Amino acid sequence: MRIAMISEHASPLAVLGGEDAGGQNTHVAELSAALAAAGHEVRVYTRRDAPDLPVTVRSPDGYDVVHVSAGPAEPVAKDALLPHMREFSAWLIERWRGGDWVPEVIHAHFWMSGLAALTAGRQTGVPVVQTYHALGTVKRRYQGVQDTSPARRVSYERELGRSVDRIVAQCRDEVGELVRMGVPRSRMTVVPSGVNLATFAPLGPAADREPGRARILTVGRLVERKGFQTVVRAMALVPDAECVVVGGPPEGLLETDPYARRLRALAESCGVADRVHLVGAVPREEMGRWYRSADLLVAAPWYEPFGLTPLEAMACGVPVVGTAVGGIRDTVVDGTTGDLVPARDPQALAAAIQGLLDDRIRRFAYATAARERARTRYSWAATAERLVEVYSEVAAVRRPTRVVA
Ligand code: UDP
Repeated sequence: MRIAMISEHASPLAVLGGEDAGGQNTHVAELSAALAAAGHEVRVYTRRDAPDLPVTVRSPDGYDVVHVSAGPAEPVAKDALLPHMREFSAWLIERWRGGDWVPEVIHAHFWMSGLAALTAGRQTGVPVVQTYHALGTVKRRYQGVQDTSPARRVSYERELGRSVDRIVAQCRDEVGELVRMGVPRSRMTVVPSGVNLATFAPLGPAADREPGRARILTVGRLVERKGFQTVVRAMALVPDAECVVVGGPPEGLLETDPYARRLRALAESCGVADRVHLVGAVPREEMGRWYRSADLLVAAPWYEPFGLTPLEAMACGVPVVGTAVGGIRDTVVDGTTGDLVPARDPQALAAAIQGLLDDRIRRFAYATAARERARTRYSWAATAERLVEVYSEVAAVRRPTRVVA
């Protein structure tokens, strides 16, 4: 099939770990690669954020990344992109009307991509599949006044849910949220993200570590809702272990990152600064080395739309201690592949970490079950196959093109 991915802010070619570059970038890259490997033609449309980028870049994984001119050709914060979505859709419409390559289906990632996709899809007669990746209702609930999303985000998300041809939700929690927003359940199909089982495998090189000291790894963009502060506080109750934090800006720039400085100050005040190491952003291809170096992965977000990092750790055969939120409740089987604890509870987190560190046999059993679960349930090939079924179903429905002057 000819498949257009729309990922307005998250380019599959971006360096990960920065404030707006994380799971969606990985997801779009891996999904596109898996679809290309299955013989489909995939083009990923993302916003041009530098003047010197070619219009089309061929990724080594067999899909094209197309840079769409919409707004200034420079980095723009995700939450400031909405005014440029009209230009984004106009650019798509012009290309597709030009006719050299017209998709059979559009898969939009994130709500603003959905808006551009819906306008372009309606005018060219191409069906739209929507994956939200994150929902404004959830963000507002947890971030309150700190949420910088555009004011109408939630109503746009609701409207999108009612208008697109199909919603692909990534976990059961998301389905519940959407239903509570007033989106009909019948419009949704649950297809979880996959994990790259070649990159994330138990065997392979591992990052160096201090002999005789347990290592806890935690990974993610350095933003408050990822719960790194809870992890640092928990470390005070887990003596003799070190905690490595992967993510954020590159190591050399950590000093200038306000959140990294806050974390370091907190580690200082908890008396664990010598055991908490921030290593900054790590290239995606090196992530396996870090997971494999750890005794366990801690994922302690306040909320998590899907959460790739627990799954990546599981694929490497690393047990997870996670908070019982969002997608983590689907990927981690409590008491089988890891332990789940309430969010924002350093005591509960520390108790779960210590309990696992003290029990080598349980760690081994979790590791085996975690790898098995990742391998059998979350391969990208299987995810791509299920999505192609969805794409084919929506593409089989004939729809009129609505031309707006
Ligand atoms: N990641 C990375 N380098 C880093 C930090 C994170 O490659 O320094 C990757 C990580 O392996 C995962 C993604 O970024 O694939 C984060 O996805 P997740 O779903 O955990 O969080 P999100 O960023 O979507 O909130």
